[in-house]
Amino acid sequence: MPVHCVDLHSHSQASDGTLTPAALVEAANAAGVDTLALTDHDTLDGLDQAFAKASELGMRLIPGVEISVTWQKRTLHVVGLNVSNSSVLSAGLHNLQVQRARRAETIAAKLQPAGLKNALERARHMAAGGQITRTHFARLLVADGLCKNGKQAFKRYLKPGKPGYAKVQWAGLGEAIHWIQAAGGLAVLAHPHGYNMSHAWRQRTVAAFAGAGGDALEICTGTTTPRQVDASAADARQHGLAGSVGSDFHSPEQRWLALGRLAALPADLSPVWEHPAFG
Ligand code: AMP
Ligand code: MN
Ligand code: MN
Ligand code: MN
Repeated sequence: MPVHCVDLHSHSQASDGTLTPAALVEAANAAGVDTLALTDHDTLDGLDQAFAKASELGMRLIPGVEISVTWQKRTLHVVGLNVSNSSVLSAGLHNLQVQRARRAETIAAKLQPAGLKNALERARHMAAGGQITRTHFARLLVADGLCKNGKQAFKRYLKPGKPGYAKVQWAGLGEAIHWIQAAGGLAVLAHPHGYNMSHAWRQRTVAAFAGAGGDALEICTGTTTPRQVDASAADARQHGLAGSVGSDFHSPEQRWLALGRLAALPADLSPVWEHPAFG
């Protein structure tokens, strides 16, 4: 086990993770993680419970969030790390939460003709007060036998251009970075290889993120290949961005990925967790 095992991207039931925040922290601790960031989609709601469990276990928990962004008609995810209470951040997140609640109604209506019954009620029940995401609808499509797995549910119903897709105008790129930094946090462009973009578009995206004042690039995730790590490291060097690492863990059912199981950050990059703002 490495001296430090850092995992700076994970989800709980406050958004589309399947574990409660406390169970997530327990699982990370059992996996040997000593620094975990909880980064739920557009909410800080799981943090109090996660902090309580982390202090019980003597584990370091970094308060985080993963903000949904619309940039050039594409959706990007910007992770905020070490964010504290801030009216700017909470107001921004509140807005996104309203959008999520409205979008859930639209998605449910759009999936009814496909045979998904009572989708809104069931998605709300499944989310149990947490943010409703497309992942919840994917789980319903699988539960009703309309799709064989989540991947297929996205491919057939939930991706742009598919019958259950509903467009949302999320936060602006500069806006999300501003909210995070106003809360004393560091802004990280999440999973740069997770947007189904060409090489040229990925480079434009990283350049725009750096130009808008972003702090770091997520170099190693639970699913990145060595080539992707090399490509992202080159992008981070070119734009003077720090490097972050995070599994993007959602559920123990994702057998291909585990908490803390991450490639090492290339040695010449500055680790975001050693940044002064990290405390
Ligand atoms: P949302 O922010 O509600 O639009 O949902 C986005 C979430 O859906 C992501 O954070 C992933 O957890 C999940 N997701 C997106 N695309 C896929 C996919 N192709 N297969 C499985 N899960 C996906
Ligand atoms: Mn997710
Ligand atoms: Mn994401
Ligand atoms: Mn994520």
